[in-house]
Amino acid sequence: MLVCCRTAPLADASLSPKLLSSVSCVDHSRVSGLPCAPHSPPLTALLQICTVSMFGAVVVGVGTAGRVRIRDMLAPLPGSPAEKLNVRGFISRRSLDPQQGVSQISVEEAKSREDIHAAFICTENALHEDYIRSFLQAGKHVCVEYPMTMSYKAAAELWDLAQEKGVILHEEHIELLTEDFKELKKEVEGKILQEGTLQFTGGVLKPGFGFQAFSGIARLTWLVELFGELSVTAATMEEDSGTNYSKLIAKLLTSDNRPLTWIEERGPGLPRAKNINFHFDSCTLTQIPPAPSGAVGIFMQDMIQFSAKLAGQVSPEELQREKTRILHCLQLAERIQQLCQS
Ligand code: NAD
Repeated sequence: MLVCCRTAPLADASLSPKLLSSVSCVDHSRVSGLPCAPHSPPLTALLQICTVSMFGAVVVGVGTAGRVRIRDMLAPLPGSPAEKLNVRGFISRRSLDPQQGVSQISVEEAKSREDIHAAFICTENALHEDYIRSFLQAGKHVCVEYPMTMSYKAAAELWDLAQEKGVILHEEHIELLTEDFKELKKEVEGKILQEGTLQFTGGVLKPGFGFQAFSGIARLTWLVELFGELSVTAATMEEDSGTNYSKLIAKLLTSDNRPLTWIEERGPGLPRAKNINFHFDSCTLTQIPPAPSGAVGIFMQDMIQFSAKLAGQVSPEELQREKTRILHCLQLAERIQQLCQS
């Protein structure tokens, strides 16, 4: 008897390859004879996730992040699901020679080729939304460097589109994969926060990276991962266009009404640094615990997470948890922007 693939969980290994191949070219409702769960991916996309053994990928935008993506796909961590990714080309607004032996191709070619299943969006932030939408619409999986978009609404729409198309939408979050952050998380676990501050300083961003609450989403994500869902009570932005200096101050509250302050300061010559001051009932943390670099690079760790999703190795619960966190952070960023601009 044939079962309804839509009602099976994404990572359900009980669907044998034989069954999957037997239903791959028939209409879903004819296969199941059952009403479909509307939130589930279409059958064809589900089959792609379950049965494709190698995933062809393109890299869009060849800056710092794009080059790392090409490098990591050319030399994936042995034995990891990242070995399932094959870089088939890169896309750039510039006309470039091959990069690390990989050739340039057009967006149209990437979207139409059947041996290309996924796109890494590594452009400046302002261009993420359009590229993501275009690749999702073509039925391709997408890995986008953070922040996904410059608005909560756009990100929510893109998640819906990914779900409708039955493909993976993954937002890179390398800041959660550093050894420093892993140590900090261990330190914070089990402690009761009274109040805290996270201050970031860094150089001036190039054009196209957007409002600081979005370009600095990594700091917001740290706070949400450490202290749970937050709300915004106030936000201000000090800017001097003459000197390119900016300082964002956002006042946040935990669900237990504990105050947190996030400061994002950028200006010419400012060192890239993060400072913390977290007061707990039992102690105060004023330094991010130093930790030696991990054996696996942070972009590689992220690529392994993305490819594990493509291979159906990540549970629906984990996918949902991540989506909830990402959308929550984007919602906070949007609220901070509104308060700064009102
Ligand atoms: P980047 O400035 O190096 O590149 C950004 C874009 O500019 C790319 O599309 C690239 O093709 C283009 N570009 C680069 N040099 C160019 C040139 N000479 N002429 C014309 N175009 C050029 O930025 P990045 O650091 O790679 O960031 C890309 C994305 O990755 C952003 O969304 C960023 O938030 C995210 N990200 C980057 C890092 C990182 O460590 N670099 C970390 C996390 C997230």
